[in-house]
Parts: sequence; C-alpha cells; structure tokens
Amino acid sequence: MASIAACSSPGIVPKQEHGEDPMQIDSNAPEQRHINRVPEGLLLTDYLRIYYGKLFPYMDMFKWLSYGNADGKHPGCDSSYFGRREFSFTIKSDRDEIYLRFQSFSNASEMESAIKAKCPTKIDIGAVYTVDPAKRHAYAQSGFSPVERELIFDIDITDYDDVRYCCSGADICSDCWPLMTIAIKVIDTALREDFGFNHILWVFSGRRGVHCWVCDSRARRLSKEQRSAIADYFNVYKGGENSLKKVTFSGPLHPSLARAYTDVLKHYFEEKWISTQKLFEHEERFHKILQLIPDESVVSELAGKWQGSRLEHVNSVRWDQLKHMLQSGSKKTQGLRRCIEEIVFSYTYPRIDIQVTKGMNHLLKAPFCVHPGTGRVCVPIDPNNCEQFDPTSVPTLAQLLEELNANASIGTDNYMEKTSLGLSVNFFRTSFLEPLFKTCKEELESAYNTKIQQSKDSLNW
Ligand SMILES: [Zn+2]
Repeated sequence: MASIAACSSPGIVPKQEHGEDPMQIDSNAPEQRHINRVPEGLLLTDYLRIYYGKLFPYMDMFKWLSYGNADGKHPGCDSSYFGRREFSFTIKSDRDEIYLRFQSFSNASEMESAIKAKCPTKIDIGAVYTVDPAKRHAYAQSGFSPVERELIFDIDITDYDDVRYCCSGADICSDCWPLMTIAIKVIDTALREDFGFNHILWVFSGRRGVHCWVCDSRARRLSKEQRSAIADYFNVYKGGENSLKKVTFSGPLHPSLARAYTDVLKHYFEEKWISTQKLFEHEERFHKILQLIPDESVVSELAGKWQGSRLEHVNSVRWDQLKHMLQSGSKKTQGLRRCIEEIVFSYTYPRIDIQVTKGMNHLLKAPFCVHPGTGRVCVPIDPNNCEQFDPTSVPTLAQLLEELNANASIGTDNYMEKTSLGLSVNFFRTSFLEPLFKTCKEELESAYNTKIQQSKDSLNW
C-alpha cells in the first residue's frame, strides 16, 4: 500500500476507527477512480464536518441568496428577505435518514452555525416565502405561500437510458456525459437569447447530471403558469413513456429548435453519438431508429440493405444511406424529411424534469454540497467552456482534505485557496456573483427611487 496523502497534520483528516488511514490507496489498483471516494457510511460525517468547518463558502451563498438585500445601509433593502428562504437538510444517522424541511436563517452566521452543528449530507434550497418558513404555523391564517423562486432546471442522465448504450442508471462515462454538455448549450442559449435572462448558474449535481439556476429578478418572480409555459417550451418529448416515437414535428421547426439543431445537435449526433453508441452496428439498435420512420417501404428497404453486411465505418455509412433515402426522389415529402430531425432530437435534445421547473416551491440541491455517493462537490460549470468540464476530475471530499493536509504549512487562514475548490469558488464569484450583485444593486436603487417619486407625486395631489 502506498499513501497518496501527506497526512502531516493530524487532526485535519479523520482516521478510521480501526486505525487504517482512509487516505491510503493501493497505487496499483486498476480502479483509480475510486481512490478519492469517501469510505461508505461511517466516515462521511467526519469528512463533512471538516468540509463545513473549513471550506464551505457560507458568505458567497449568503450574498447570492440575499440578492442585494443584505446591505442594511440602503433604505430600499428588504432585511427580511434571506430569512424567508426555505432550506432543507438531509441528515444521516447510523440507522436512518432524517429530512428537515423549512429551516431558515436570518443571516450568514446563523446559517453557518446550523450547518456546522447539523452536518447535513445534503442541503436543499427552496423558495422565498411570504413569512419566515420556520414560523409558518403562526401565520397559517394570513397565508403562507412562496413568493419568489429561481427558475430551475434539473437534468439527469438516467432520463436518457433508452438512448444510451455505454452506461445505464447512475453510471456515466466520457461517451455519454456530452449529453449533459448539449443540454447546457441548448438551454443556456435559449434562456439568454429567447428569454433575455443573464444571471444563469450551472452546477454539477455530483454524480450524473446538472442543475440550472436562473437568478434574474424577472425569473425569480415568475408565476407557476409562466414557469409551466417555459418548461413546455423546452419539452419536445410528447409521446409519453411507452410511446416509441417521442418527437414529432409538424410544419417548420420553431426557430429555437432550428438553432439547437444546426448549432449543436446535428453535429454532435453525426460526429460522435452514432459511432460511440454504435447505433447502426447492432440490429436491435438500428431497428429502434427505423421504427421512427413512418414509411413501410423505406424501412424494409433499409433493413434489407443492412442485413448481415459488415462494412467499415458502418455507423456513418448507414446514417448517410438513411438520410439519402429520406431526402431523395419520390420520398421527398416534408413528413419524411422531418424524420431525420426527429431522430436526432429523440437521441440528443435536452430532457428536463418538467415538474422541477414548473413548481414554485420545488427544492433543489445547493451548489457546493457534496454528493454522498461519489464524494464529489457540486461545483459550478462554465457554460462557455462546458465541453472542457470533466465530471470525473471534480474534486472529492477526500481529495480536498488531502490538499488541506498537503498545504497545511502555507501561512494563510484562507483554507479554500489551499485546495482545488478555490478555483470553483473564484469562478462562482467572478462569473456569477459579482455581475448578479451589481444588477441587484441597480434594481434596488431604481425601485427605491420610483417608490420615492410615487410618494412625492401622491403628496402633490
Ligand atoms: Zn456512458
């Protein structure tokens, strides 16, 4: 056994009860991806205690979720704003899991103390309510309801299990992860260009998906109906769970879908997906594609052609044959040509969890949480460089604590900067938090001035 950890600073990294160093790994182990996993069960809370004690970015989270209201000096600030936000904690004990909803904190230090004391394995963020959620029973008469909530998207790779063949369930690999990259590109572009939103945060869910938080004030104040309309805007899958054909287009493609197809989906499907997933190499896979073509003669002709023959570049050759047949001569009807697009969309277009986006008070895991299964931190993803994001190189809890140990002698109290989490937190601050904060200040100022002007006007009457 070789140790990758320089555990020179006892006290930072917890030891397992039976004395074995949890940082010890077998350097010859074939499954290198397991080296940074937090050992199951017993130690997670100990690791989390250190993470929450030294690394979790409380102030950044507070600044974000205050949306400019934390600056008590400005008369336009709503000092109750942060305190009306629901948090929920998942706490693991030896025997079971406890779920605490409607937690609330009036400031950053209250939040910090509660998280340190309860050491949750998961923190979820909910809506901002009419009153402090912890006191909701006292206000039951006058009405306790959500008033603001970021527009959120939850995309999970398991929802693509009927079209990916490299992995299934919770597993991901470098072949199927690009489906998440596609989802980020398509949705991010539409949110900015079609809806005019600017303050969008993308976060790795810790294992097999991504979350999106749209934080513009206009997005936070959307009604339930408006959220439903936006969710439907992104939903091209109408066929239902058991229907073979999930995507059907009639008439010209909506400009947003046409843009997604030309800029992202087509290229990715043709250059990567058909070959990595061997879509035309195996009979049951190509039959699944042929089932999407509503023309018996085309289907039987292609199926006959592909029977038994083995060629080089079989996937791209057969895709070209399919396209050629649907576009050529007598088959050149709008409906069949549409089929090509329908196939590409069926395999690659983002699959969002509609209910999460529609709901006003749906909870979503907080950024910078740690996934209890993988030990990976839910770090932000830069939508402009999402191709470069590699979920398998996201820092794990064990890795961060190892870095803390290795850099213990560096003379600074800024623990974050001693670890690779520093990069993610800096990205969060500079790319998301600072521009958001600037907009919040401007909006606060202008809302306040309007209010003053209105009260002056009413006096003049
Ligand atoms: Zn895969």
